Amino acid sequence: HFESVGFIGLGNMGSRMANNLLKAGYKVTVHDVNCNVMKMYSDMGVSTKQTPFEVAEASEVVITMLPSSSHVLEVYNGPNGLLHGGSLLTPRLLIDSSTIDPQTSRKLSVSVSNCTLKDTKDNWESPLMLDAPVSGGVVAAEAGTLTFMAAKICNNLAVAVSMLGVSEALALGQSLGITASTLTKIFNCSSARCWSSDSYNPVPGVMPGVPSSRNYSGGFASKLMAKDLNLAAASAEEVGVKSPLTFLAQNIYAEICENGHESEDFSCVFHHYYSGKGE
Ligand code: NAD
Repeated sequence: HFESVGFIGLGNMGSRMANNLLKAGYKVTVHDVNCNVMKMYSDMGVSTKQTPFEVAEASEVVITMLPSSSHVLEVYNGPNGLLHGGSLLTPRLLIDSSTIDPQTSRKLSVSVSNCTLKDTKDNWESPLMLDAPVSGGVVAAEAGTLTFMAAKICNNLAVAVSMLGVSEALALGQSLGITASTLTKIFNCSSARCWSSDSYNPVPGVMPGVPSSRNYSGGFASKLMAKDLNLAAASAEEVGVKSPLTFLAQNIYAEICENGHESEDFSCVFHHYYSGKGE
């Protein structure tokens, strides 16, 4: 049982997750390098701290939701990072929900298990660290229905390839004269149905409330998908597994980023195939 939660990284996902913790009545302390975000939370009356270490000092549990491995390493091991106190830590549980490479997660988990909890009688209990990336995107983050897992890179490889497949098929259909809405209805009661067609459709105007219906803003940035595909490719190489589709998807997302769409939601790949306006 715990009452105080520290939250570090309040972007598209983290802000929604932290807001749910606030709604549920937890005492939340936050930190982000973005001053505008910090101001927004202090205006809401939420306790904001200048460094991850200060968040750790105030929290029984700390959650990080940061872009990539380098940011997570900085927040844990950097000056005034979560582990700055040396071997004595206040939080009993550190949860990293960012999608990062398994090697970094393992390294951090060893550093955490070498620490001891500050306020225990015998001083020999170690804090726990959880590698707990999430799936479901901003819609699930807002609704409080994210899936927590330890297999995130495989999940995102599958979702990247399914998003490419759905986008390519919808672009072909539209070019043949079938509207994306009609084709989506057909997919969703046929074997093509998947998350990219029924919950996160890439064509503007087909579904309300998803990034494609708001100019691909506020979702899962293409540069983050590019990062995850690089992680998948590196893992596949490490264990010697053939991964031709990872390679293709990597190239497509690299091109999208080079063309200036790196901050747009990854479903903007639809426009890689189709230059019309959508529906
Ligand atoms: P984001 O870029 O919107 O948010 C990241 C936040 O971290 C920003 O507010 C940024 O200012 C902050 N930040 C960066 N460096 C920092 C530091 N050193 N200290 C403190 N704050 C720092 O990213 P996001 O879309 O919220 O994704 C976060 C993680 O979740 C990524 O690893 C991503 O792959 C994963 N993810 C995202 C989605 C999605 O749909 N957006 C879904 C599942 C998983």
